[in-house]
Amino acid sequence: MHPFTYTKASDTREALDAGRRGGRYIAGGTTLVDLMRETVERPETLVDITGLPMRAVTATKRGGLRIGALVSMTEAAAHPQVRALYPVISQSLELSASAQLRNMATIGGNIMQRTRCTYFRDVTAACSKREPGSGCAAREGHNRAHAILGTSDHCVATHPSDVAVAFAALEATVHLLGPDGERHVPFAGFLLKPGSTPGREQSLRKGELITAVEIPALARPLKSGYLKVRDRQSYEFALTSAAVALHVRGGVIREAKVAAGGVGTVPWKLPAVEEHLVGERPSAALWTAAARTAADGARPLTHNRFKVELLQRTVERQLRIVGGTK
Ligand code: SF4
Repeated sequence: MHPFTYTKASDTREALDAGRRGGRYIAGGTTLVDLMRETVERPETLVDITGLPMRAVTATKRGGLRIGALVSMTEAAAHPQVRALYPVISQSLELSASAQLRNMATIGGNIMQRTRCTYFRDVTAACSKREPGSGCAAREGHNRAHAILGTSDHCVATHPSDVAVAFAALEATVHLLGPDGERHVPFAGFLLKPGSTPGREQSLRKGELITAVEIPALARPLKSGYLKVRDRQSYEFALTSAAVALHVRGGVIREAKVAAGGVGTVPWKLPAVEEHLVGERPSAALWTAAARTAADGARPLTHNRFKVELLQRTVERQLRIVGGTK
């Protein structure tokens, strides 16, 4: 591990000052400390933000929910309003990591976590995400777990977060605070596809801090849920996953929010699936037809062609679970 200095911010202003000077924010540390041990990450200064007032889950005036960035995964998953209004969020959190990690890791840190690509974590391998311009060992290497959507010639790594898939489906907003003040960024624009700069993963500006994630008010009743397909049933990252939320009134689907995980370089919103559903009556045939569009535009690699069909089946199954019908 490379030497670093550690400071604990006593208030938001102190944290932002340290961030502006290049300090790296840390809360639960469940990803960053691992990466520092492996010398993948080498921050010079860590700024501990665990003392900042960002631990609340609150209802917004607009009828949505605001989840503070320092709320732990466990707390968010168990929160009565999260459970009642957005089961898809609770389920995505409960299917992530281990209980011990969920107790430590925060919502802000979860969406900031870095890829599980093994070449990224091996400092002897070519990886443009870690070392710009060095290549991508995964493209010709073992790429079974890698992305089929949103890839570039420079990087094919998946985004590892489950709850980020739920946030993408629900069209959440990320609240940021920086030296120039506050701004709110739609989730779709917060996490960045790799393009030619895979090391740049978020649209954060220098020194900016995530303060909360806001979930918008959606039409009620809203049924929602998260399905995760993985190699083993505990403590494993998704091969594919699907976050689905449906509002059905008068026997017709009025709103559909769908996103997939484990397949994209960012959580993958599925507008073609959503468009296929809205205005239709729930039926097994509808779920099948809508899910068939889930992998549109996929560019599979040598070892992950199976993800195309697995994604379609995952989305279809989750539509059936949430929307009903056999
Ligand atoms: Fe690095 Fe991305 Fe290639 Fe993995 S897929 S080796 S993270 S550039």
